[in-house]
Amino acid sequence: MSAPIVRCRGLTKTYGRGDTAVPALRGVDFDASAGEVVMLVGPSGCGKTTLLSVIAGVLDGDGGTCSVLGHDLHKESGTAKTRLRRHGIGFVFQAFNLVPTLSVAENVAVPLLIQGEKRRVALQRARAALEPVGLVDKAAALPGQLSGGQQQRVAIARAIVHQPPLIVCDEPTSALDHRTGEQVVGLLRDLAHLHQCCLLIVTHDNRIFSFADRIARMDDGHIVAMGDAADF
Ligand code: ADP
Ligand code: MG
Repeated sequence: MSAPIVRCRGLTKTYGRGDTAVPALRGVDFDASAGEVVMLVGPSGCGKTTLLSVIAGVLDGDGGTCSVLGHDLHKESGTAKTRLRRHGIGFVFQAFNLVPTLSVAENVAVPLLIQGEKRRVALQRARAALEPVGLVDKAAALPGQLSGGQQQRVAIARAIVHQPPLIVCDEPTSALDHRTGEQVVGLLRDLAHLHQCCLLIVTHDNRIFSFADRIARMDDGHIVAMGDAADF
């Protein structure tokens, strides 16, 4: 058995209060391990982004438990969660979120600079992270000079540069055409398997389901089915 990276039990999250309360997670049980690619799928509004955000320590759950990399998130201080995010987690978003005025290498170096790494070392490691995504020759370019697929590969390099044991991705292919989306997810999967990190991908793009080791289907704040790509 690989090491458990994420373990949620009876996890709940409601936005707002009273008449305007929106229950987004209604008691989620979920596990993910090192070396695993798990996709969270389901209709818009079912709670995928909320679940990913709680797991990533950017949003607080209300009830139940959520343990990530051995930390019980409901008990950790804000500072501890910030440290966990900085060191333990890589992020890939739908809208690449690159800084337009920084070079590709500088963008990739950001997680290391935030950790306090020296600029020279950070840029060296950023160049190394650009290698597996095939963009070393674009290190000095600005993001605006790259295609969408290339920009998402820069975002992947940024997510892996600090070698986090957990990578979370929210709709990473929705701004890409089908072929490019497949390339990007294939790359993410290969890197996750190579480095034995846990890769969580929120998506409603069923064309990339085949890249998952496991798929969790959500509906209305619950996980309603779990299986491999053949089941979905
Ligand atoms: P998904 O990612 O599956 O589309 P979300 O997790 O974004 O779903 O949303 C789950 C539910 O929570 C939806 O009903 C959504 O409208 C609601 N929701 C999400 N974010 C907020 C927020 N910041 N404030 C209030 N309601 C929210
Ligand atoms: Mg979402």
